[in-house]
Amino acid sequence: MKKPSPYYPYYSEHRKRNIVEKILMAETGKTQFVVTILGSGTCVPSLTRSSCSILMEIGHQKLLFDSGPGTMRRLLEAGVTIYDITHLFYTHLHPDHTGELVPFLFATKYSHAGQRKIPLTLIAGNGFLHFFQKLKSVYGQWIHFENEFLNILEMDNTNSDLIRFPDFSVHSIPMSHNPESIAFKITTTAHQSVVLSGDTDYTSNLIDIAAGVDLLICESATPDDMKIPGHLTPSLAGKIASASRAKKLVLTHFYPECEQVDIAKECRKTYSGDLLLAEDLMKIEIHTII
Ligand SMILES: [Zn+2]
Ligand SMILES: [Zn+2]
Repeated sequence: MKKPSPYYPYYSEHRKRNIVEKILMAETGKTQFVVTILGSGTCVPSLTRSSCSILMEIGHQKLLFDSGPGTMRRLLEAGVTIYDITHLFYTHLHPDHTGELVPFLFATKYSHAGQRKIPLTLIAGNGFLHFFQKLKSVYGQWIHFENEFLNILEMDNTNSDLIRFPDFSVHSIPMSHNPESIAFKITTTAHQSVVLSGDTDYTSNLIDIAAGVDLLICESATPDDMKIPGHLTPSLAGKIASASRAKKLVLTHFYPECEQVDIAKECRKTYSGDLLLAEDLMKIEIHTII
């Protein structure tokens, strides 16, 4: 058997089994939309929880949300290279969400002559361009791309906003965390929808954008009795999911304190629907009901 290259994606049999067990089995129908949790952790280094990152695959479109430290390695473990990513989104600019932006672009540049065949579109709240210009003032040519290879789109950080692409649309709405913080809702042409909160405190905006959504991926940073400003707890995330009538809820962004308590039980105080606690490389398939 050919030895797998460490520079290209492959699954070990162990990893494959792990993933298959985690698949959320939906009703019937065809899978077109697959969400992979790449990092369910925080800024705290962890062997099991990489920093924040989510992959969404809609047909051939590969959307990466946040790229905290460890993201590129988790991508390979999930079977995807950085050159396959078509859209890169940032919920906000904290280092546990943006830490691998520069390494991602630098690595892409290394392969510029060959491996990236498609342009990359970067999408984030207002303020991102300013942040990116500052990164360029430090890194210069190392992260510079011609316009045909890198498009940067900013979304409104004070109101809801919308961008349409041929295969999906992106709604955004401000979150209660940083001035540039926004949540994203991705809706496919088959009307499948996923919301990613990014980091946030309790806000009715998250209830609004997640109304009736197929899947809500919501931060739940600390246990109920350790709430910190700018973040949610399991029962607050559950309250938002119940109010929005989201069909499924995935809690993520777990600080180490979360490992000591029954997070699901805390969430169940306010939410009785489908619930998953994120783990790195967990895959969730969004099915179309035919
Ligand atoms: Zn943050
Ligand atoms: Zn964070």
